[in-house]
Amino acid sequence: MTDTRTPGVPAIEDGALVSTNPATGDEAGRVPVSDEKAVIAAVDRGREAGVWWAALGFDGRRTRLLQWRALMAERIEELADLTHVETGKPVADAVVEALAAIEHIDWAARNAKRVLGPRKVRSRLVVAEHSAHLEYQPYGVVGIIGPWNYPILTPLGPASGALAAGNAVVLKPSEYTPVVGQWLADTFAQVVPEHPVFQVVHGLGDVGAALCRSGIGKLAFTGSTATAKKVMAACAENLVPVIIEAGGKDAMIVDADADVQAAAEAAVWGAMTNAGQTCIGIERVYAVAPVYDEFVAAVVAKAGKLKLGEDIGPMTMPGQLDVVRRHIDEALASGGRAVLGGADAVQAPSVAPTVLVDVPEASAAIQEETFGPTLTISRVVDADEALAKANALPYGLGGAVFGKKNAVRIARRMRSGMVSVNSAMAFVGMATLPFGGVGDSGFGRIHGEDGLREFGVAKSITVRRGPSLLPAMTFERTPAQVQRIVKTLKLLYARRP
Ligand code: NDP
Repeated sequence: MTDTRTPGVPAIEDGALVSTNPATGDEAGRVPVSDEKAVIAAVDRGREAGVWWAALGFDGRRTRLLQWRALMAERIEELADLTHVETGKPVADAVVEALAAIEHIDWAARNAKRVLGPRKVRSRLVVAEHSAHLEYQPYGVVGIIGPWNYPILTPLGPASGALAAGNAVVLKPSEYTPVVGQWLADTFAQVVPEHPVFQVVHGLGDVGAALCRSGIGKLAFTGSTATAKKVMAACAENLVPVIIEAGGKDAMIVDADADVQAAAEAAVWGAMTNAGQTCIGIERVYAVAPVYDEFVAAVVAKAGKLKLGEDIGPMTMPGQLDVVRRHIDEALASGGRAVLGGADAVQAPSVAPTVLVDVPEASAAIQEETFGPTLTISRVVDADEALAKANALPYGLGGAVFGKKNAVRIARRMRSGMVSVNSAMAFVGMATLPFGGVGDSGFGRIHGEDGLREFGVAKSITVRRGPSLLPAMTFERTPAQVQRIVKTLKLLYARRP
């Protein structure tokens, strides 16, 4: 039989999705493909399983989730190897990714009860005869659609919150990384064998679209802005709420009082880890004039030491090579200079580290998500100019600031959902902080307390504890009582501050 597959591109053969190792083109594994009916059946099963899972309560779920966390930690080498084979990323990068995911499971398991569990809130004077109670109840089944660049962390960020909150999960992993997605569900089933609380459905984009329409209670999407719009449109048909974690073009600002060597180290890591295929990767740096030359030299020295195949793996998705090549070529054609890598950097299946300077702001390398091990560095007069340029794009995911005196002030003014001061991307592994963007980078949050609340429906309950002093909400109120309401209202609220 002739092989009609495009090297490195997943294919469907005999009802199975065949995943490939992007470094070698060899098969990385195969999983069964689901059709629309199978997706709906999975969500139906998940709905029943979710009832059982919710009834375990916060404490019961906490135990199971911590068991899952322990199992993952015990088998970290296996998970990292699998991720290395399927994405091409270095094993060390896969370990770092898994560590962040494990952190989120641990934190969500331990904190869901405090954040989402039933609690009493204060009442107000005019309704003082009722006590007020709040709790967050699960949606039932949460659908998760994930990308291929961080196949452990991107599904587990939302899944940790969704599961801790008492929802069942149906995950549709990227067609490029189905085997890692399957591993996550299989290991979960080892600690929760009773019911299919965490399921996976496989296939191409149509399976993701089917998941949107399958009767889920909420959808957490991570992927490109273009696909996010399609996903939202599909979810809108049934008013299914969505969380959108989309692309980015994160900037780093290097101020005059920055530790330049530390900034360069973080910029190289932020730009080149996972071969630059990171939604919160640093793609642009704005360095103020007094430190610009030293910063560029330090970045070139550090990035020049990275080895292809060792520090930098192949592009997971072969199509990305064309995007990276176009961005580099356009930058060079419009007056930019490569101080490292450049015109010949794209060597399929990999891209050599590339640092571009003097690139016009209108260039694709500055305007669009590149998703390769490339970095543009621009000289600016001061932090104000850096902020104006950093904030000029429709994206607003993360960012970084290096400096001392004004660094946090600059960080506040960055148009983004997250910023690391004097590091790159530190917020992603900080389980106590919410993760998400603004503008074209999406909305809604995963991780932290806000992330947990995304996966629970706020349920408000009042309980009468006595007769009403101001009986406003009854047809049986008397004119005298209405007069008392008017008087009280004026007493409480007619005074101007
Ligand atoms: P895509 O948007 O191409 O795909 C994301 C997921 O959506 C995949 O599982 C894909 O399936 C699925 N999908 C495709 N078409 C549809 C559809 N019509 N309906 C429903 N689902 C669909 O993104 P990539 O996988 O290429 O991921 C890279 C992108 O993800 C980058 O833009 C990156 O910045 C972003 N990202 C954002 C993060 C964040 O937290 N903000 C984190 C990581 C990445 P299939 O693969 O089978 O086509």
